[in-house]
This record gives sequence, C-alpha cells and structure tokens, in this order.
Amino acid sequence: LAEKMKKSPAEVIKKLMMLGVLATINQEIDADTATILAQEFGFEVEVKVEQDVEALFMQEPEDDPADLQPRPCVVTVMGHVDHGKTSLLDAIRETNVTATEAGGITQHIGAYQVEHNNKKITFLDTPGHEAFTAMRARGAKVTDIAILVVAADDGVMPQTVEAINHAKAAGVPIIVAINKIDRPDANPDRVKQQLTEYGLVAEEWGGDTVMVPVSAKTRQGLEDLLEMILLVAEMQELKANPNRPARGTVIEAELDKGRGPVATVLVQNGTLSVGDNLVAGTTWARVRAMMDYKGRRVKKAGPSTPVEVLGFSEVPHAGDQFFVVPDEKTARQIAEKRASRKREEEFKAAMPRVSLDDLFNQIKEGQVKELRVIIKADVQGSAEALKQALERLSTEEVKVNIIHQGVGAITETDIMLASASNAIIIGFNVRPDVNARRVAEKEKVDIRLYRVIYDAIEDVKAAMSGLLEPEY
Ligand code: GDP
Repeated sequence: LAEKMKKSPAEVIKKLMMLGVLATINQEIDADTATILAQEFGFEVEVKVEQDVEALFMQEPEDDPADLQPRPCVVTVMGHVDHGKTSLLDAIRETNVTATEAGGITQHIGAYQVEHNNKKITFLDTPGHEAFTAMRARGAKVTDIAILVVAADDGVMPQTVEAINHAKAAGVPIIVAINKIDRPDANPDRVKQQLTEYGLVAEEWGGDTVMVPVSAKTRQGLEDLLEMILLVAEMQELKANPNRPARGTVIEAELDKGRGPVATVLVQNGTLSVGDNLVAGTTWARVRAMMDYKGRRVKKAGPSTPVEVLGFSEVPHAGDQFFVVPDEKTARQIAEKRASRKREEEFKAAMPRVSLDDLFNQIKEGQVKELRVIIKADVQGSAEALKQALERLSTEEVKVNIIHQGVGAITETDIMLASASNAIIIGFNVRPDVNARRVAEKEKVDIRLYRVIYDAIEDVKAAMSGLLEPEY
C-alpha cells in the first residue's frame, strides 16, 4: 500500500498507529482499514475481492457414493480413573498387534491399529473424555465408537457419568467394557443395574447397549470386545474415498529435539502421501516422511490410518483439522493468513476497551492517553460543532482525538473502525442500525447517543475527570 501511494512504510505505519492499528511492515491489513488509511493520505481505494483460497479448500467436496469404500472404525476409550482404560488399551495392543504383524516395536504415537477377523480397528491412545472433548471443542470429530470402561468391583463413578454425557453430547455410540471381572469382588450385574439410570440398558436386559465383561489383566473377553466393536461399526456403514487429497485431524503433536515438529494425524478421508502439502490450523507441512504406529516408514496412509508426520513448519495443536492443498505456496499462504488473523484476534482481546464509564480508571492507570472518538450526526454542521467542542476538552493527560466524523446512521463499518482503533462512538440525533448494534455488542464498542450537544460534551468531560455516573 505504501508503495502504491508513494509513501514510506514508516509514514504508513505511523498513520496506522494513529488510527489505533499496530502493524508491522509485512502485515496484512483489511480492506476497511486500508480504505481509511488511504483516505488519510488523500487517496481513494477501490476494493477488489480476490478469490479466497482458504475457503476453496476448507469446503469438503461431496464424494460420489460410487467412490466410497469401507473404512476402519475409530475408537476412543473413556471411563473413571483407575478403572483400567490404559491397561485395556495396552492389553488389546499387545495381544492383537503382534499376533498379526511381524517386526517393529509398537511406538506410542497417539493411536494404533489392530486387526480382528481381517478387519482393522483404530484405537486412539489417549484415554479419557477430556482429550476427546478438547478435540471436539476445536471442531474435530474423529471418534466413531466410545468404549466406556467400568470396573466391575467399583461400579459407576463420577467420571463414568461424565464420560457418558460427553459421548452422548457428541452423538457417539457407547460400548460398555465391564472390566476387572477377574476380581473376586467383581459384580457385573450391579454395573449394568447402575448404568440403566443413565439410559444405558444392556441388550440382554432388553436394551440396545452392548456390554462386554472383560479383564485387561487376564485378557479374558478381549476378543469378544473386538467382535462387538466390529459389529457396532458395521451398523454405522463407515465409508471414505481413498482416491482424493487427504483431510483429517491432528491427534498429537510435539517438538522433537532431533526431528523438529512431529504430529500424529488421523487421515479421515482421502489418502495422505509423502510429498503432499497440507495446512493444519495455523501451521503447514510438506510431508517429508511418515511413520506408522510401529515406527515403520510408510509412503501412503488411507482413511482411518494414524501416521506420524514430519515436515511441519511449527507444532500444530491436537484437534487441528488438516487438509491437503496442491502446492507448498498455497499451504504456506493459508497458514500464514490464519496465523495473522489469530494474532490480530489475540491482540484485540488483550487490548483494554475504552468506554466512557471506565475512562477515568484507564487514564489513571496510564492505559489511555488519548480518547479516540467517532462522531456520527444527522447534519454536517452538528458533527463539526461537536468535533470542535470535544477537541477543546483535551488535557495534559488525555487528548481527545476525533478519528472520524460523518453524517448518517451508525453503521457496521463505524463499529469496525471503532473496534480496530479502540474508539468510542458518539451519535448525535442518529442511531445504530441493527447490524451495527449486533457487531458493537460483539466487539464491545461503547456507543453513546445524544439529542443535545451540551449533554455529549458534559458526559465526555465528566468521564475524563471520573465524575460520570455509570450507565445501567
Ligand atoms: P486407568 O486410570 O483407567 O487408565 O486405569 P489403569 O489401566 O491405570 O488401571 C488401574 C489399576 O487397575 C492398575 O493397577 C491396573 O493394574 C488395574 N487393572 C486394570 N485392569 C484390570 C483388570 O482387568 N483386573 C485387575 N485385577 N486389575 C486391573
């Protein structure tokens, strides 16, 4: 923009700061800000809307039903602490992984796969509904079936109930694993009885919840459990299209000393290949290498396959959704755009909002050295009169700066400017329209409406000296 206006970047940044926007030399600013900024230099801006590359790839194209193939189900284990979630995951892994596949030592990458009756099942390795819901909060939906582990000697406990509610909220079917049945004090019927209170009625009692007695210790019942998982999965008719660019979710991620950012991703649709470029949250990757849960290098990963991916620009977050884009430039571009948008939001959230009610405190605390005001009035004459009167209220501590004045209703654009510049809006014989009201509430912009110029001036004066009666 500076180049186009034949101004130095420093001049432009300085002007932006005066408008309340802290920007660096290579930061993007939005069209509204650019318009106002250019006006300040006496230019007019014509806004051209470019095709939004992000939106282009964010939207998942519908698969032709003919392209869909069955995919393995993805299972999460939940339940009360010490009821045996980890033991169960370990027992299943040990009995079934090594039985069918030779070589390799199982690695903890956040998920693993087992085979039963020639069908695969993917287990997420971080038990507990906290991890499950943290991912869901990021919009990720990865689990097809929840295994609710309840110890037969302990029964339903608080976290059992929480787990039930979290699974139900996500609409994920529950299979109950009644664990520790090897214990002499095990009482599976009591567990079934207790679960009826939460709407989980065992099939053998006329309900529709599958309940399997197991022991992670003796490994009794594990085959039955896998059998039931496959049965429940079959009813869901889980399908995906392996022949398309991959998308899925980050399951785990960390910064590895030797390898850099490493993330375990679960491919949910399509096939991920070495060399692919992807975006995950605010990060991007050119897939340099992929490892399965046995630490073996793989070149491709299809639907429901968890793989460790090397080549990320930064460490993504668990729950970030990823999608493959055609080239590195696009990946980088989308990730950077998202990152800068996130920074902006954080900056906005961190910045204290000015309001007349709170102005005096903010002045005292040194947070505000300038009261920025936007004036909207019914006629130009009133706006001008108000501007001059308000500017005269400037003191040593606070300068009153009218950053924008105009004629007509208070609009969304006014609110966005106020929000971006941390300004208040004074309306004289005008009101905000519906949109503006909504946005103002969201952006927490203080709007004051007056019918008498004198009242407006008195309020600002009172606010500056801490004498304003708060508005309720
Ligand atoms: P988590 O907190 O739900 O992951 O529970 P853990 O897997 O850590 O198990 C808690 C304790 O219960 C450990 O001491 C396990 O050895 C024990 N445990 C787990 N499953 C069984 C089982 O089937 N039978 C018996 N007797 N003990 C078990």
